[in-house]
Amino acid sequence: MPATIRELSCADDYDPNSMPVDKARDFISKVLAPITATERVNIRAALGRVLAEDIVSPLDVPGHDNSAMDGWAYRHADVDVTVGAATPMKRVGTSFAGKPYLGTAGRGECVRIFTGAVMPEGCDTVAMQERVTEDSAGVHIPNDLKAGQNRRFRGEDLKTGAIALKKGSLFSAAALGLVASLGIGEVSVYRKLRVAFFSTGDELKGIGTQLGVGEIYDSNRYTIYGMLERAGCEPIDLGNFIDAPDAIRGAFLQAASTADVIITSGGVSVGEADFIKTMLAELGEVLFWKIAMKPGRPMAYGKVQNAHFFGLPGNPVAVMVTFYQFVRSALATLQGRTDYALPPMVKATLQNKVKKLPGRTEFQRGVLTMGTNGYEVKTTGDQGSGILSSMTQANCFVVLGTDVGGVEAGTAVDVQMFEGVM
Ligand code: AMP
Ligand code: MG
Repeated sequence: MPATIRELSCADDYDPNSMPVDKARDFISKVLAPITATERVNIRAALGRVLAEDIVSPLDVPGHDNSAMDGWAYRHADVDVTVGAATPMKRVGTSFAGKPYLGTAGRGECVRIFTGAVMPEGCDTVAMQERVTEDSAGVHIPNDLKAGQNRRFRGEDLKTGAIALKKGSLFSAAALGLVASLGIGEVSVYRKLRVAFFSTGDELKGIGTQLGVGEIYDSNRYTIYGMLERAGCEPIDLGNFIDAPDAIRGAFLQAASTADVIITSGGVSVGEADFIKTMLAELGEVLFWKIAMKPGRPMAYGKVQNAHFFGLPGNPVAVMVTFYQFVRSALATLQGRTDYALPPMVKATLQNKVKKLPGRTEFQRGVLTMGTNGYEVKTTGDQGSGILSSMTQANCFVVLGTDVGGVEAGTAVDVQMFEGVM
């Protein structure tokens, strides 16, 4: 049973005014209960979904011992090292992929063979064609191969009855190919997670309308849409709303009645949050946190009726960072994923000096490349949390820990690659 929000928020070390990134993520993960509804779909439609069953192999893959090369199949015991570098053998037939040689190779006999073709009876090794010559004396098989070389064994990929793919795993392009290789055309997956989202802010306008002074186009709904789509969710765009309790209450109620998850952006910073706080206290149980991170300091998490709620900050970069650091893994858990892990950190040498104050974790946008002495990373200019172009140029976050202050060029820093949703 997942814990309740109230239980967790009563822990001794719970401090909403200074919440470390790891702690917030850990807290959220304890409250989540994965989806249970499933559906059977064609394997192509399962791409990007989460398997709701173990896929058990109904056959051996490959079904026969076969050749890994174009070349010559022979019996290794027949090579004669006393005659020089190669042993002359007699060609008795050909084995094509899908058209095997049906005879048995006898002593000193070999069979022309192609990649994927069934190993003929009597043969155990394949010499690649580039190393073999054929003349009037026969087929000259090199003597230096190991027994069994270039031969693929029956069942070496999968054996009958083995679990080919685990329940809870992401159905990737490789998984799609693997189940196809087993002759399976349909699989059971979890229902798509329905995620409703909306933006709040008096200054926001939709595409296609004229901007007045101080107004901006709502971009967060688009980045959120993009990340949800790429995370395999069903996005439900509820639009943008002015900072007025009645408008927002209606949006929350509509979202909670149709979706598993609600994501909002804006309106969680100090000053703005007050009326949202009061309203959400009516509708559910929601906690407002100051996360010790930059960008993305204010964030809300909780439940509105039965839906999980993530209140992300308004700044466009902060939206993406908090989604990546918190929402993404929470969605994976709710989707039924058991194999999800945040992308691993790698060490890279910083190419430019970086300013930072100790006290919170910073996720600066960077470009990671391979230099002559390993990974190198450059930050993408101005790191303001409203500068969305920094996200479009970046391929990673440079993650600077809480205790770190400014960092000089040449220092090894932690880098987290963008993966999946960006
Ligand atoms: P807030 O968190 O509501 O105080 O917003 C912080 C900053 O993000 C402000 O400059 C807002 O104009 C901007 N912002 C908020 N929501 C959006 C949005 N949906 N699209 C683009 N910018 C936004
Ligand atoms: Mg606002």
